[in-house]
Amino acid sequence: MARYTASVCRLCRRENLKLFLKGDRCYSDKCAYERRGYPPGQHGQARGKHSDYALQLREKQKVKRMYGMLEQQFHTSFYRAERQKGITGTNLLVLLERRLDNVVYRMGFSNSRSQARQLVRHSHFLVNGNRVNVPSYLVGVGDRVEVKEKSRDLLPIRVAVEAVARRGVPQWLEVDKEKLMGTVKSLPAREDLTMPIQEQLIVEHYSK
Ligand code: SF4
Repeated sequence: MARYTASVCRLCRRENLKLFLKGDRCYSDKCAYERRGYPPGQHGQARGKHSDYALQLREKQKVKRMYGMLEQQFHTSFYRAERQKGITGTNLLVLLERRLDNVVYRMGFSNSRSQARQLVRHSHFLVNGNRVNVPSYLVGVGDRVEVKEKSRDLLPIRVAVEAVARRGVPQWLEVDKEKLMGTVKSLPAREDLTMPIQEQLIVEHYSK
């Protein structure tokens, strides 16, 4: 499957926001955004006016990159959100949060979503006791996500669990660090998502 292989720190600088794509490094003084908080490239520091289209595009790119998705996957999630009842923008964010790779990251079993995706693909997790190796799998209320017995001593998982305190576990999830197990207590509400996202701009972008 296609994937983004260039420097992910460029993405934070491009979106003018820390997207926390590199685990520990994001919390250190090596963070590229902390050092050079302006867009990459020759004209990165040039100021300019942004059209409505540019603002909408940037918002879509920001959220897509935050969750480490490719355009087609992101677009598919948007269509799905559009077909659901309720507010499309909120539906979209809830769908993104429910992805298994995101839930593994939120529960603190990985340091980044890309690491979570790799761990899921390598079958290190069970959902309700069944092996699931699809990062886009959508968890629901009451689902139990746990690290597989044989994978409990994996260093990346151990390191991530120790480090989770600095970012915390959202209240819609419940985690037992000793058992390396977590439960989805409820679906996330809009106010649970604290990153600065203007989802309405994404809806406008795709509505053109
Ligand atoms: Fe973004 Fe993390 Fe790189 Fe900083 S270290 S620029 S937060 S990916």
